[in-house]
Amino acid sequence: MSGNRTFTMIKPDAYAAGNSGAILKMIEEAGFKLVAMKLTQLSADTAGKFYEVHKERPFYGDLVKYMSSGPIIAAILEKDNAVVDFRKLIGATNPADAEEGTIRKIFAKSIEANAVHGSDSDENAAIEGSFYFSETERV
Ligand code: GDP
Repeated sequence: MSGNRTFTMIKPDAYAAGNSGAILKMIEEAGFKLVAMKLTQLSADTAGKFYEVHKERPFYGDLVKYMSSGPIIAAILEKDNAVVDFRKLIGATNPADAEEGTIRKIFAKSIEANAVHGSDSDENAAIEGSFYFSETERV
């Protein structure tokens, strides 16, 4: 079992489409507790830093542009086995490959505009959570 916190973002496509509430409802109904949350818009610079691990990938420039194109909701979530269970709830990166009933299957528009982010390890969950939230901004 992995740790009990993960980090998520409701990405610009899902926020713009008015799907934030429906996505948060699915997250809470799946047993995740919100322990930090904010609505914000990333600058290209900040989005570039967040996705620095993908710098060498061919889609990095597009990803940075997309992630800074509109408001997002960032949140830290708590649940037993949070990282693994949340990746199951959101589904595969490409919505075409995502299982029925997953958030990306329901709400994603494309492999890039795929509605939500979910950390891929406990280590990254901690790094990504701290990228957005200070100690006093979480419960
Ligand atoms: P994730 O862990 O499922 O979010 O997937 P990755 O870590 O591999 O990629 C990070 C993000 O980059 C994805 O969530 C997508 O928004 C975007 N992305 C991934 N693959 C592609 C791609 O082939 N093309 C484009 N344009 N964006 C991609």
